Amino acid sequence: MTEDLGLYLHIPFCKSRCSYCNFYSIGMKADDKFVKAFEKEIELKSCKYKNKICDTIYFGGGTPSTLSSTQVESIMRKLFQHFNISKNAEITMELNPCDMTKEYLASIRKIGINRISVGIQTNYDSLLLKIGRMHNAKQAEKAIYQAKKEGFSNISIDLMYELPMQTSKDFKNTLLWAVHLPVRHMSIYSLIIEEGTRFSQLYKKGLLNRPSEEASWEMYQSMCRILPHYGFERYEISSFAQKGYKSEHNMKYWKLDDYLGLGPAACSRIKHERLENLPGVRLYQKQLLSGENPPEKIYKLSIEEEMEEFCFLQLRMKEGINKEKFAERYNKDIKEIYKDKIEMLKNKKLLKESENHIFLTEKGFAFGNYVFEQFLLT
Ligand code: SF4
Repeated sequence: MTEDLGLYLHIPFCKSRCSYCNFYSIGMKADDKFVKAFEKEIELKSCKYKNKICDTIYFGGGTPSTLSSTQVESIMRKLFQHFNISKNAEITMELNPCDMTKEYLASIRKIGINRISVGIQTNYDSLLLKIGRMHNAKQAEKAIYQAKKEGFSNISIDLMYELPMQTSKDFKNTLLWAVHLPVRHMSIYSLIIEEGTRFSQLYKKGLLNRPSEEASWEMYQSMCRILPHYGFERYEISSFAQKGYKSEHNMKYWKLDDYLGLGPAACSRIKHERLENLPGVRLYQKQLLSGENPPEKIYKLSIEEEMEEFCFLQLRMKEGINKEKFAERYNKDIKEIYKDKIEMLKNKKLLKESENHIFLTEKGFAFGNYVFEQFLLT
């Protein structure tokens, strides 16, 4: 029997570091040594997955568009040689607007990338500067139209809100600008101050001028109101898509489906195991170029920990927790574990239940963190 597998490729290079970001990335370019090591990892790891059909591939990072189109082509060729890639696979690449030249877009399209995800964040130049992005609004807009011209019909963008000095009116204008771009999907994140970022240093010194609670709430409300009005349905806490354009790859994360991560710091989930390649490009290259798999960490989750994760992740989606899948995976009815919590959240109008699903209400989406906490067992 064949089963599906997603492939996540972590390209850990960025030309500069954004002020809010704590992903693993370094400020150099991918050289041929890195690509060779990456291809070796494809070769070594693919052996275990010969019975799987890969239906999604996702180049993330970092900034995958720091790879030259020749490097992307070489990696793709290797993937197709060693994995069973389905004919209709969704193949996404994250792009920085600065890298989206006509030539680059045409090349990656030809190589087989059929979905792109562009980190735009906002269309206000002053905010872009503040958050440490290298592009400006004009460049971003031009890049999206260029991509469309080069034949990309499945374009996603990332936007952010609750940025320092951002007003609710700014964000509303950004949304109204974005819905008129030729994009099918938007991922919209509120700014979270992560440890180890430039913003966390400023925050600790009291130098980060964040929007008030009231302004943040207005931004959230604009997002919930404006995007559906223009045909972008919210199908996950941070994701909005036109009909037929949900991210198949990201759905694997929320459904706890299997995906294999390749590259330094890439994470995988295979059945009940979570694995993570250690960060560190040098060590990664050294191991692989001498024919060994890169060092990895294996997380053995207890059944309780995995149940919690199953519920948090599935609740992120509009469709919610699939009761049948829960029972299949854990040999237990979800009500045996969470009956009181589910009833309490339903009474508070934060959850609803259908025959086969338990899902967040509109109010539940707004208070997601509170709901998720109720599913903690450990
Ligand atoms: S947000 Fe993206 S581009 Fe910016 S530092 Fe992080 S990974 Fe790199």
